[in-house]
Amino acid sequence: VSFEPPPRLLLASGPSPVPQRVLDALAQPTVGHLDPFFVALMEETAELLRTAFGTSNAATLPVSATGSGGMDALLVNFVEPGDRVVVGVNGLFGERLADALGRADAEVVRVEAEWGRALDRDDLIAAVEQGADAVCVVHGETSTGVCQPMDGLGDACHDAGALLLVDCVTSLTGQPVLLDEWGVDAAFSGSQKCLNAPPGLAPFTAGERALEKLRTRKSKPRSWFFDLSLVLGYWDGEGGRVYHHTAPINMIYALAEALRIVDEEGLDARWERHRRAHEALRAALAELGLERVAREGEELWPLLAVRIPGGVDDAAIRGALLTEHGIEIAGALGPFTGKVWRVGVMGEGARPDPQERLVSALAELMGRDSKPAVEALAEGWAATPA
Ligand SMILES: *Cc1c(COP(=O)(O)O)cnc(C)c1O
Repeated sequence: VSFEPPPRLLLASGPSPVPQRVLDALAQPTVGHLDPFFVALMEETAELLRTAFGTSNAATLPVSATGSGGMDALLVNFVEPGDRVVVGVNGLFGERLADALGRADAEVVRVEAEWGRALDRDDLIAAVEQGADAVCVVHGETSTGVCQPMDGLGDACHDAGALLLVDCVTSLTGQPVLLDEWGVDAAFSGSQKCLNAPPGLAPFTAGERALEKLRTRKSKPRSWFFDLSLVLGYWDGEGGRVYHHTAPINMIYALAEALRIVDEEGLDARWERHRRAHEALRAALAELGLERVAREGEELWPLLAVRIPGGVDDAAIRGALLTEHGIEIAGALGPFTGKVWRVGVMGEGARPDPQERLVSALAELMGRDSKPAVEALAEGWAATPA
């Protein structure tokens, strides 16, 4: 039986375009999870992940789950029942963290901002100063296209004896992520956003303060599968690798190849390309009357959220974009439903050609002249040469 997925240009909130090199890696023969070839690949993958996260944390690995599983792994290990946890909520993924913290029986302290705005750093710091065991924030809020400034937060957390726990699912390799510099204690990401691998793995990292919390917990983590001390028995080579669960071998091939591509480009160049792509697309979509939601300085480069002008039918246009042009963009959720489109600017999607295809198709479907928008896109890319 063979099947043939339709050709798609993935410019939504994930999954993002997967390069042929990564698909080829995925299709290589499966080996055993303790095969010396695979063990060497695990070591390489962990090292490339450390670079991507901006950390020297030994405990760095891909959790066998999607990004949401990375979130569960983070909370189940580093939050204990009864812990007071400050959580930033300014979109869907902050809401999810708050929901998951409630299920973990934490005392949840919500610090909120309206959808489309970053959290006020002083609000977060004031909440931490009242006492906290941990602070959870989303770095790149994919539901609104907002990037949370991280400066000052690490010091405030550590002065208060709180762990700083961060969702970097969308920002990783698409915008500076500097976990050690920011004083982040543990973080997770996903394979299918700026990394351009298929969905299914959650890059994860934890530093010494977080591991100390894990060692001194009063009770074992409630999840056996996500218990980091067990998972590290396999991922941490010291003292030999012990079977925990069968690693998703081929997905790790794909992630390793995706990380090699990141490494070949270099993080600085990759961040800068995402910034340029974001700015160019922003200028082009503005020509079609689609204005960015995020304010200057709060924008998430890998995800451009724009307001849909009155009279434009959200579902009809997105439907035609997919069926007639093979291009996927994302609608919005919560208070933004029907009012906002979210366009991925992730990895291979952050290039002039796919963006021009999108801009031309959108202009046609909206009954607008595409020329000014396509010109604005080209000018945007030319404005800040690499
Ligand atoms: C996509 C995403 C997630 C969830 O990842 P899944 O792979 O869909 O489980 C979590 N947080 C943010 C910010 C995301 O963009």
